Amino acid sequence: MSVKDQLWDELKIKSFLCVKGVGITDKANEELKSRLGKDLLEFVYDLYLNQYNEAPLIPQEFLTPSGLIVPFKYEKDAKYKVDLDGDKYILVDGNGNKVFDVKLPERPEYYKGIASDGKELRTIAKLICGDTMGVCYSNECAYKDKGLDCLFCSINKGNREVFWKNPKQIAEAVAAAYNEGVVKKIHFTGGVVPERRELDYYIDTMEAIDDALPEGHDAVAIAECAAPSDLEYLDRLKEQGFKSVSMNLEIWDKNIYKTICPGKSSREGGWEHWVEALEYAANVFGRGYSSSNFVIGIEPATLTLDGTKYLSEKGVTVSYSYLQPKAGTAFEGMTTPDTLWYVDMCHKLVEIQKKNGIGYKQVYETTARKDDIANDIYRIEEELLPVFGCNEYEPKKSIYGGN
Ligand code: SF4
Repeated sequence: MSVKDQLWDELKIKSFLCVKGVGITDKANEELKSRLGKDLLEFVYDLYLNQYNEAPLIPQEFLTPSGLIVPFKYEKDAKYKVDLDGDKYILVDGNGNKVFDVKLPERPEYYKGIASDGKELRTIAKLICGDTMGVCYSNECAYKDKGLDCLFCSINKGNREVFWKNPKQIAEAVAAAYNEGVVKKIHFTGGVVPERRELDYYIDTMEAIDDALPEGHDAVAIAECAAPSDLEYLDRLKEQGFKSVSMNLEIWDKNIYKTICPGKSSREGGWEHWVEALEYAANVFGRGYSSSNFVIGIEPATLTLDGTKYLSEKGVTVSYSYLQPKAGTAFEGMTTPDTLWYVDMCHKLVEIQKKNGIGYKQVYETTARKDDIANDIYRIEEELLPVFGCNEYEPKKSIYGGN
């Protein structure tokens, strides 16, 4: 079987694991308990707890034999589980048969570090996809108080301590990871902030990061925010050194948007303003360097594709995420579309974007996660994975060396 055929097969299984989750056998769990947080990279809970509003000790992600990164969506009763075979981790199906070997990521050195105010660096900025620092500045969304949360989102669910990270802490964590060679991108995200102060905060944080990193550094910074009422804020983000900006519309159809995202549609200038902001950002940051995510599986596919075509033509990169019917949300207990439907939708997304001149470089430098299915499709079609000898999208130091 060719490498590409192998990758397409692995992608189908990956899609299943992303939607339906993956478990851990008792045997693997015993061993993981002694290794996660020590030599293997543990998942750090920040934006959300898991499906059950719990925080089990699980790996951040894993790698398939041909090099696809699979986010670890833990589901205790999942059909597929990570198991231990001798000293190797493997994926097994519902009958206990081996599907393939998996590689778990090693823990980077900076995870042992402590910021000058005593906070653990790993809780300030975590490493995702083996190359991206995920900075979740706060785990609360201001729509909570108004009862206007997006219906699919669980950010405000569960009992958690609400945190807020300051620019100095973030700069210290980013500098430690950058100097270690494990980071290429920095992605900022969080809930909508009361009084909409996140843009000033982003500017202060980027300033602190620039001061902490070597001059002329090549870290790509991506700001995820709500559409600002004053669009000139987007120019300021660009001037401060952000490479791209994401403003996630989530739903294309205006009426469905009103129902599913009541806060965004009523408080941030509504659907029209959000689309205007995305188009404005594509002019400021350059074609492909403004992006919006759609949570697919809520509105009819034809509407999502209409939105994808419209935005792509305007130079806006689109990403798709799965509907995950999380506990405590309006979708709890509901089923998701077929797992191969997601793959098919992502093929259509990539085709539309390519037609509109949005290539993988823009997608990589604009979307948060290179482990999403559309990123995989680009990288398989264009042979941009390490298995093809391409290291352009890899950090200086890989966390997938051993085990
Ligand atoms: S704006 Fe919606 S999707 Fe974003 S954090 Fe708030 S509730 Fe969640």
